Amino acid sequence: MSRRALIAGNWKMFKTGTEAVTTATRLVELASEVVNTDIMIAPTFLSLPLVSQAVAGSNVKVGAQNLFYENEGAYTGEVSAAMVKAAGADYAIIGHSERRQYFGETDETVCKKIAATLKAGLIPVLCIGETGAQRDGEKTFSVLDKQVSNGLKSFDSDALQPLVIAYEPVWAIGTGKTATPEQVAQVHEYIRKLVNDKFGNTLAMSIRILYGGSVKPGNVSEIMKINDVDGALVGGASLDADTFIKIIRYK
Ligand code: PEP
Repeated sequence: MSRRALIAGNWKMFKTGTEAVTTATRLVELASEVVNTDIMIAPTFLSLPLVSQAVAGSNVKVGAQNLFYENEGAYTGEVSAAMVKAAGADYAIIGHSERRQYFGETDETVCKKIAATLKAGLIPVLCIGETGAQRDGEKTFSVLDKQVSNGLKSFDSDALQPLVIAYEPVWAIGTGKTATPEQVAQVHEYIRKLVNDKFGNTLAMSIRILYGGSVKPGNVSEIMKINDVDGALVGGASLDADTFIKIIRYK
């Protein structure tokens, strides 16, 4: 089965509203000829409605970097999936390693956030990945197994049909180190097999598995050629539209 590539940019805590709109507008111009590849950018919550308006009607879609799993209520500082959807987003990144590392995200909260994301009609991009110490301790596969099993507990395969998984080795994020093609191939094959074992072949064959971790214009085409890699989640190199478009046009 052929899967449509997805190239997603995570803008993290960068760019004011004005800066985000300028970058998004430039990206829309540059990406207008791109076909057969889905494009997503994830600005801060504050910029989400502005960027959604700036890209409206184009092939550039918008995602949130996080959300909270309750619909509404006394949860100071939080934003719900329905609010993200109403702001014009189509995607939500869930369980990014920076959220797990600095903001107490666990597989249990990830699972609730995936449920809220799906309920709101958003496409969840579930981030998983091992730390350097876990890789050195040969725990990579058990860590991924746990993140998938617990993060996707209690869903059936139909509900997970829109899901995207991003494999992001923590040691490769923002460090300039990328996993070797062998490491990426081995892990992506493992993740697809995990999905197959837990949710069946149909979902395993259709689910998109992205690679993330220091993806740049210079290494994207090699990464995209690897079996079971269906796209990329890009941090630093997505902040500049003229750089990001080179990744989007990896072919
Ligand atoms: C990320 O933030 O998801 C990421 C992969 O960052 P970078 O591309 O900068 O390593």
